[in-house]
Amino acid sequence: MRAVISGIPGVGKSTILTMVSKKSQYEIINFGSLMFDMAKELDLVKTRDDIRKLEVDTQRNLQKATSNKLGKMDNIIIDTHMSIKSPAGYLPGLPAWVLTELMVSSYFLIESTPEEIMRRRENDPTRSRDEDTLKDIDEHQQVNRYYAVAYSVYSGATIKYIYNPDNHPEIAAENILMGL
Ligand code: AMP
Ligand code: MG
Repeated sequence: MRAVISGIPGVGKSTILTMVSKKSQYEIINFGSLMFDMAKELDLVKTRDDIRKLEVDTQRNLQKATSNKLGKMDNIIIDTHMSIKSPAGYLPGLPAWVLTELMVSSYFLIESTPEEIMRRRENDPTRSRDEDTLKDIDEHQQVNRYYAVAYSVYSGATIKYIYNPDNHPEIAAENILMGL
């Protein structure tokens, strides 16, 4: 079993995943952390927020190497993104060659209102978040729904949309646990 949990930056994914990890039998692997380790090793980036600004081809190579690693691991929850907002445009988080490698059986998309996400980004000094408008945030969440549908068609995987309400991440965590 391989599940994917995604959500745009600032949606509260890390908070929810910490709660999920305490109650789930599955190991949670962060795709971005594996990419970051490789990119840092190659001296390409300083922080994880530098990855999405690299040349698209470089990002694809790191992405491919990461999915090779993950393809060898079973019974995992993969913490990643449906799409990455790069300066060149949206980069699919799971292009065909990644999907083939991973054969994911379920997708979870954590979502909130653009206003909530904007506020959460402003309150998180640990990350270098994009200067997105409410409209940008809305677009990114919509685009991610389309990507999820495309990925699901590929493998027959289920999709569950998870709303993360303000101050109650445990509700979102429970909802994910019910679907695993
Ligand atoms: P995160 O902390 O989950 O936002 O991940 C850090 C960074 O890793 C993201 O901003 C992306 O640049 C990169 N990343 C994570 N997952 C993927 C993926 N599936 N494909 C390409 N890049 C990814
Ligand atoms: Mg995170």
